[in-house]
Amino acid sequence: MSRKKILVTGGAGFVGSHLCERLLNEGNEVYCLDNFFTGQKENVIHLLENPYFELIRHDVTTPFFIETDEIYNLACPASPIHYQYNAIKTMKTSVMGAINMLGLAKRVNAKILQASTSEVYGDPLVHPQPESYWGHVNPIGERACYDEGKRSAETLFINYHKQNNVKIKIIRIFNTYGPKMHPNDGRVVSNFIVQALQNQDITIYGQGNQTRSFQYVDDLIEGMIRLMNSKDSFTGPVNVGNPNEFTILELAQKIIGLTGSTSKIIYQPLPSDDPMQRQPDISLAKKELDWSPKVNLDEGLIKTIAFFKSTI
Ligand code: NAD
Ligand code: UDP
Repeated sequence: MSRKKILVTGGAGFVGSHLCERLLNEGNEVYCLDNFFTGQKENVIHLLENPYFELIRHDVTTPFFIETDEIYNLACPASPIHYQYNAIKTMKTSVMGAINMLGLAKRVNAKILQASTSEVYGDPLVHPQPESYWGHVNPIGERACYDEGKRSAETLFINYHKQNNVKIKIIRIFNTYGPKMHPNDGRVVSNFIVQALQNQDITIYGQGNQTRSFQYVDDLIEGMIRLMNSKDSFTGPVNVGNPNEFTILELAQKIIGLTGSTSKIIYQPLPSDDPMQRQPDISLAKKELDWSPKVNLDEGLIKTIAFFKSTI
């Protein structure tokens, strides 16, 4: 079997570093590209000894050229505090990053996968969310730089496919957690675990009755690879997430229980446009990819807690 050359943008981030490791383990040559905004070298440092791994500091808002067979386009901050830090840059990363990577895919005839998001559904009025739902997004709100950036990227992907026959795949990722999240990432699972392990107050935004459906990172990586390897006629978008839905209060209580923490729950203001509910309809992923999540929340949290215990 010939070794595939695979470019992973955002490869030093949380999801990207798991993906690089898995692709290397499968015998591929992996180019990990990152500007280290939210990612870090530590996430992939153990891969540097592998002769088939290269780490490249580059920003996807400027063009990049390499001979490659496949591109996984993950570059983009994913946590609300980080993507809102420089909203214009976030939008440039999604839009110019997509243009630059699609241009590269077209030039070298590579297959390209876009890491899209459940945020394209905004604060959804349809529940659970199927891919056919067009969403409910505020185009001028605090989340718009991310949501509209990702929506524009989907538009670019589908049109490069229709106009230029570029082989594309669009995955809509729902809330994913696991080892290698940055302790200051700011998303709910890592925040609550870090707070619980340090017996600090657990910060619930709003009443804690908003819901999310949490997917363990290994399940996501399996879904991404299955999508990349699916037949060319299947472009997505396809939801990949775990349909088990929990309120944020239930998540906090679960993490307190699993860590044996003495933390107290405190309530802080709910950020604007924070979606009230989210749950993927994964019928399409089951049918087209023969994929469904395998790791339940308790199992995944136990592994993630063990990771944070060893790092903080
Ligand atoms: P992350 O912040 O850990 O990783 C993003 C990576 O992209 C980081 O390494 C960061 O340094 C890099 N990056 C950001 N801007 C860049 C730029 N301009 N040029 C090059 N690199 C850049 O987040 P993550 O959770 O690993 O998310 C990875 C991808 O998956 C993102 O595109 C995100 O939108 C998508 N996604 C993730 C989730 C989730 O729950 N984890 C959900 C939906 C979508
Ligand atoms: N959240 C919270 N406390 C925190 C971090 C997040 O209550 O310390 C809430 C947040 O308001 C949202 C949910 O948890 O309702 C998920 O937030 P996250 O940032 O992880 O992801 P997203 O909102 O993008 O799904």
